Amino acid sequence: MRFGWRKEVAGRPWRLSAKLLIISSVATVIGFSAICVNVMLDMRRGEEALARQMLENLASGVDSDINRNIELYDLSLRAAASNMILPEIKELSKPILHLILFDRAATARHFGALQVFDAGGRLTIDASTLDPRPENRGDEEYFRVHRDSPDTGLFISKPMLHRGAYAIVLSRRITGEDGSFLGVVAGSIRFSYFHDLFGRLSLGADDTITVLRRDRTIIMRRPFDLDIIGKNLADRASWNPANMNSGSYAGAGPVDPIPRLYVRHNGTGPLNVVVGKPLDSILSLWRTEAIRIAAIVAALIVFVLGVTLFLAREIGRRAEAEDKLEELATTDALTGLTNRRKFDASIDAEWRRATRQKTPVALLMIDADHFKAYNDTFGHQAGDEVLIGIAICISDSLRRAGDCGARYGGEEFAVLLPAFSAEEALDVAENIRLKVQQWSEHTSISIGVASMTPDVTQEWSELVGAADKALYAAKAGGRNRCVVATVPQLSLVA
Ligand code: GH3
Ligand code: MG
Ligand code: MG
Repeated sequence: MRFGWRKEVAGRPWRLSAKLLIISSVATVIGFSAICVNVMLDMRRGEEALARQMLENLASGVDSDINRNIELYDLSLRAAASNMILPEIKELSKPILHLILFDRAATARHFGALQVFDAGGRLTIDASTLDPRPENRGDEEYFRVHRDSPDTGLFISKPMLHRGAYAIVLSRRITGEDGSFLGVVAGSIRFSYFHDLFGRLSLGADDTITVLRRDRTIIMRRPFDLDIIGKNLADRASWNPANMNSGSYAGAGPVDPIPRLYVRHNGTGPLNVVVGKPLDSILSLWRTEAIRIAAIVAALIVFVLGVTLFLAREIGRRAEAEDKLEELATTDALTGLTNRRKFDASIDAEWRRATRQKTPVALLMIDADHFKAYNDTFGHQAGDEVLIGIAICISDSLRRAGDCGARYGGEEFAVLLPAFSAEEALDVAENIRLKVQQWSEHTSISIGVASMTPDVTQEWSELVGAADKALYAAKAGGRNRCVVATVPQLSLVA
């Protein structure tokens, strides 16, 4: 059976609102997540900036301590080197010579005693003793460097075993008035100085401090490892000062694969300091916080989406129930056709539309013939079956969505055919009548047909009246026939 009016019911607003609910929930969840991710990334950047600042301060402190000591020691070297070429020096006794050449600065705890070597590398004067044992350092790198290149200035050696302890040797050239090479003044800074300096800092187990010569040779590193000391990092792009533009980089270091944030201090001294902190420890607090927030947000999202789905389903259920109720309220229980209430609303709406658009509306009034007699003969239940059969014949004859077949009352039916002329409506009426006749030989129907193009002064009851009259005419004319209403107005089609 076809129930044209029901098509209007499809796509009702509730479906939209369930969809809207889901869409707005998902959009809210996405927006909320995006904000959370953004905030967490901001927090992470903040942690990194804080760590970088802390490392910069640390590098700067270590750098200035080391280079200040080197500067102090260098002052002693310079004084000794320039005093050595005074002409009077050869005439002085050894104790006086010591007093003139060496100040007290070079006797500090971690500094080795100054030594003077002649042009042949032989030890001539030693600050620690008046009678030095003969030794020759002519083969040492620091001696050769000064002998071969007069412009070296302060030379810092690679770490080496010097007088029984690991140390770096600091040396300066003794140059005569005429520029000739007269020997070398050398001293040393022991590793104990670095151990002492690093020991005073509070550092994490995997934090590193690397002290490098300008040529990228590792002078000292914390944690201490003799194998790494003296290694040259000139081939490491990320440890090349030119590439550490911003003064920092994150990644694996030269010794172990632990990813760290490395910060270099841009000092002017002969040694550079690079400090490193594992990214894991920089971000550990942030990570804990991020996981906590992510877990809470995820739980909230699951909750919101769950509630949304539940509500959407509930909205769907209610809408379905409303649909069913409305169907019940507008359907005739016996035949399944539109009931009288809904039919009146439909004809009212169609009438108004036809008035606005100046199009015709056709109406069929259908009545079962001798139905009282049928009931009396075959019983009321058989009569009901016939009414259902007639309803099926009516439904099967309606093709368009706007056509509306209704049970008008008792054994009477009405069919509303918007935009149909009387001829077109008569075709439909004949079709229904023949269908009923074919279906049951004991049953026939009479149909009154009317079509009107309404103007604003007219009511739809006039159309019903005209169709009713035509129905009476059909009954009077012998039943089992269709009669078209003849109406005096010009707009009516006869
Ligand atoms: P006519 O050809 O002039 O229309 O004769 P008729 O007997 O159909 O005329 P009338 O209107 O006097 O009789 C209508 C009968 O239809 C009366 C009633 O018993 C029967 N009827 C009305 N509604 C129902 C119904 O729902 N079920 C059944 N079985 N009969 C119904
Ligand atoms: Mg009747
Ligand atoms: Mg009848």
